[in-house]
Amino acid sequence: MSGSPELDAALVEALADFAAHDRVLVATDFDGVLAPLVVDPMDSRPVEGGMPALTSLADLPDTTVALVSGRALDPLRELSGAAHDGPLVLIGSHGAEDSRAEGGLALDDDQQALLGTLDEELAAMREEHPGLRVEDKPAGRVVHTRGLPDEEARSALDAARELGARHTSLEVTPGKGVVELAAAHVGKGVALLALADEVGAQAVFYAGDDLTDEHGFQALADDTDAARAQRRLTVHVGDGDTQARFRVADEEAMVALLQALLAARRERRPRTALTPSPRPAPITDRAP
Ligand SMILES: [Mg+2]
Repeated sequence: MSGSPELDAALVEALADFAAHDRVLVATDFDGVLAPLVVDPMDSRPVEGGMPALTSLADLPDTTVALVSGRALDPLRELSGAAHDGPLVLIGSHGAEDSRAEGGLALDDDQQALLGTLDEELAAMREEHPGLRVEDKPAGRVVHTRGLPDEEARSALDAARELGARHTSLEVTPGKGVVELAAAHVGKGVALLALADEVGAQAVFYAGDDLTDEHGFQALADDTDAARAQRRLTVHVGDGDTQARFRVADEEAMVALLQALLAARRERRPRTALTPSPRPAPITDRAP
């Protein structure tokens, strides 16, 4: 297949409905949605057209756009190319970091000590499982097994999960070929709802491809703002079971979707033509 992928007619209609709301939050995962999954996580690059479409959306009035990722904030910014002074909100480390929060996040002494212990144990694990990659994050570590032979990857993932189970204050989050071990964890669902409340979104769009994104889809379905829950537009990228309302095949289809959303949002007539684009104020504290 070549050229721009065709979007499902029901999805196009849902995008038009979504775009018609006064104030919306458009949030998306990065890896596996805007950027293909790769063996070395730092080799990840966004597909053409995705980030420009998001930035253009964010420049429209009453439209907040957020990247919501398991990655730490700095690599997320670097790999996505999102400008420091740009309109995009970056939520990193599954909601434990926010580009608008001063200093990102703080760990207490116990959490710092736990990270030290974790590093020692992961160093030992790497000797037993050569080829295993460990990604440092501000609040945790991620064990990556992509590129390892299946059998080896399975046993390494098992070892990482067992390590997580031994330390009950670690949050263990399995994904595709990864296990994240975090000393502080918020979760994409909590982060999405907090941001939706903060910007006063009447409708929320969220796209993701992985297990952690299912928490986001579920949280939006369970939104205590029942009207907003009804208006949620959730999209799963790729195969596999999902609670999302819609599905697209891959990152290229995601770009087509974002471009359709941008066009629909541009066609919408704002109620007051001269309302300046609201930029959410920096937050100093996150709701529990
Ligand atoms: Mg992903």
